[in-house]
Amino acid sequence: MDPQPVRRDTPACSICGEPAVIHQRYTGRYLCGPHLIADIEKRVSDTIASRQQVVPGDCVAVALSGGKDSTALLLILHQLFGSRGDIRLVAVTADEGISGYREATVRSAEDLTKRLGVEHITVSFAELFGDSLDTFLKGRETQACSICGILRKKALIVGAEQAGGTKLATGHNLDDEAQSVLMNVLRGDLTRLVRDSGADSGGRFIPRVKPLMYIQEKEIATYLMVQGVWEDLPECPYAIHALRREVRSMLSGIEYRHPGTMLRLMENKKRVGTAFLGKPPREPFGTCRECGDPCSGELCQLCELRQSLGR
Ligand SMILES: [Zn+2]
Ligand SMILES: [Zn+2]
Repeated sequence: MDPQPVRRDTPACSICGEPAVIHQRYTGRYLCGPHLIADIEKRVSDTIASRQQVVPGDCVAVALSGGKDSTALLLILHQLFGSRGDIRLVAVTADEGISGYREATVRSAEDLTKRLGVEHITVSFAELFGDSLDTFLKGRETQACSICGILRKKALIVGAEQAGGTKLATGHNLDDEAQSVLMNVLRGDLTRLVRDSGADSGGRFIPRVKPLMYIQEKEIATYLMVQGVWEDLPECPYAIHALRREVRSMLSGIEYRHPGTMLRLMENKKRVGTAFLGKPPREPFGTCRECGDPCSGELCQLCELRQSLGR
């Protein structure tokens, strides 16, 4: 048999010359599978170190939805910390009760934690709030993401606390973070625009960290494909209602034509915060009069939501 012809249309890795799997447009480099994996793990490790997201003695509760980002997050943290005796990992899944969507992703989360040997806790909305998200959202579909976000945050905190977590790590990537910057501009929400999401809450909430905040969605998808853990999972059926969906498509178009836009947005967010306030603002923290959770007003978001839902 003739040898396979060399494919001329596959660009070569800028580091080793092997066939590339990704064009990292904002650095101008092409990377092969092994070099993409090494690059991403190094950048995540640098983010964690420079922001002290994980320190010796931590028990990191990883919010694992079973989707791409959280799957990659758990794989990377397991790679970085799995063999260290002084850092523990536990996965926490919030089961919102979204029919036709959640079953597949919960199963994918279970398979992954079993394979890695990571403890896994699932907190369901039904157990915690008395009903599924589908029931809460009847007639309020356009508010789906903000309602779900409030409930999911609480469910993840409860799960992380059950597991003895000292940090709650979420899979937010660079695209998510850059979209949030733009959305806060569109909404005129200056406090959220300049707030450092890693800022503490006076020690009363488990600190949340985002180790993938500088990794692009496309890089994460390619990372999973190279690792062979790619699974085409359904998208949340409520996402169609979200402003984020429109911002996402607009921003990825701009990023394609002007590589580096997302990173610059993150940098500009920091600069705006510094220019206006000298340092990122901290929300004034009080205590919710209903449940005692830390919050900025009289009622926390969750109790406010419960009231508006008549629960
Ligand atoms: Zn290479
Ligand atoms: Zn409350």
